Amino acid sequence: MDIEVLESIENRIRFVVSKATPELVNSLRRTLLSDIPKMAIDKVEFHLGPIMDDQGKEYESVTPLFDEIIAHRIGLVPVPTDLQLFCYRDECNCDGEGCPSCTIMYSLHKMGPCTVYSGDMEALGAPELKVKDELIPIVELNDSQAVLIYAIAELGTAQRHAKWQVANGVGYKYYPLIEIDQDRVDSSDDYVKACPRGVFALEDGKLISFDPLACTLCKACVENFENSAITLSCDDTRFIFEFETDGSMNAKDALVTSLEIMAASFDEFREQVSDLDSKK
Ligand SMILES: [Zn+2]
Repeated sequence: MDIEVLESIENRIRFVVSKATPELVNSLRRTLLSDIPKMAIDKVEFHLGPIMDDQGKEYESVTPLFDEIIAHRIGLVPVPTDLQLFCYRDECNCDGEGCPSCTIMYSLHKMGPCTVYSGDMEALGAPELKVKDELIPIVELNDSQAVLIYAIAELGTAQRHAKWQVANGVGYKYYPLIEIDQDRVDSSDDYVKACPRGVFALEDGKLISFDPLACTLCKACVENFENSAITLSCDDTRFIFEFETDGSMNAKDALVTSLEIMAASFDEFREQVSDLDSKK
């Protein structure tokens, strides 16, 4: 399987996978969706009772939203994830008690009137782990309300809950093969206009496939003409793949991690199958 990156910006990537099969790219899709570990907030503690500010003003620790809704919203905030720094909490040397190797503690202390945003969350003892997307609204407070919240993030995968899902909008299509029979191109047939994806163009009066990778194989260039000069087919060993991440890690890292997870799964499967052979 070869990968050629067509376009890559921080959270989004588009690439061509070649020397592959539909089963293999679908495994990559499923791995991206549910198997990449990432940090997400799993426990939230709310301070109950009055909250005082520096001037001695007293605020109520109530908000217009139920605590459960706030906890859910905080859980969905993408937490920056460096897989070199963290391990699963239940596999950690701390025996799951929670330590800097397996958890990140955030505090959220805000007094109204204001809108509380994800950017108000402070990573305790590790300012570099502050959330990147700072404008996710969490709750609105009036002038007598305040929140004091401690939240703990830990490693997980989307098999447990969607808040641990790194990649979104994961999809692929077959690589389109477009052939133009120049002898059959009739000047009265407007292939350029017929294609909704802008695949074709005229160059010096000659029809060319200007942007073949934009083709979705919709066949508008074939079915709209009685004797179309275009032949469309697809290459089932090449695929155009794209996805984006929630911001907890960049798209390239997510892709590399997925490929490593797949390689490890295939190795394990191969070993198990060879064990079966030796037991015969
Ligand atoms: Zn630990």
